[in-house]
Amino acid sequence: MTKIAIDGPAGAGKSTISKKVAASLGYVYIDTGAMYRTVGLKAVRCGIDTRDAEGVTKILPALDIDIRHEGVEQHIYLDGENVSDKIRTPEISMAASNVSAIPAVRVAMVDMQRKLAKNHDVVMDGRDIGSFVLPDAEIKIFLTASAEARARRRYKELLQKGESVSFEEVYNDMVQRDKNDSTRAVSPLVVAEGATVIDTSDLNLEESVEAVISTVRSRI
Ligand code: C5P
Repeated sequence: MTKIAIDGPAGAGKSTISKKVAASLGYVYIDTGAMYRTVGLKAVRCGIDTRDAEGVTKILPALDIDIRHEGVEQHIYLDGENVSDKIRTPEISMAASNVSAIPAVRVAMVDMQRKLAKNHDVVMDGRDIGSFVLPDAEIKIFLTASAEARARRRYKELLQKGESVSFEEVYNDMVQRDKNDSTRAVSPLVVAEGATVIDTSDLNLEESVEAVISTVRSRI
């Protein structure tokens, strides 16, 4: 099985680009951020403070998360409900960032992710895929862009979805999440050993996809 790990900060274009790479190679696309978001959603629904490690850890044994694929689209189910859209709000982004710093949450999610990669050729995106989840991935890419470029993209996306947010809020959330993700004690966001760094600040989507696909094709 071939594994492609795509890591990087929020808003670097990982999911859009990973999906296109998966489609072009016929691989399964796995969005690991969606898993942390779903744990965040569950905690919020249970009225648990997402920074309360003990409280969040208690909901893990009965956590019912299911991942289904429809072509290159990943759908994620919580307690039998398709929550793929409900996990995309700014509130749940922050909840995901909080719960992802809890060691027991990471253990549970990494276990699911490794199982998924066992039986399929995958393009898996996240923060710690090349460094921890799949350290033996054949290809590792670290996709990045300036905080401003990433916030601009995310702001446009949220406006298109009808969310009422200001650019400043999105930018501040992005910087806060970057800080949480790169300073947490367990599996912080780092450039994995052997990863190719691609900076998409000055690239449009097509150019970014092209840069990733040509890196991938030169290696497999
Ligand atoms: O990629 P996405 O923005 O959907 O991820 C949501 C949050 O989940 C991130 O801010 C990060 O805290 C966490 N995450 C993680 N490890 C991963 C994927 C996501 O900690 N492999």
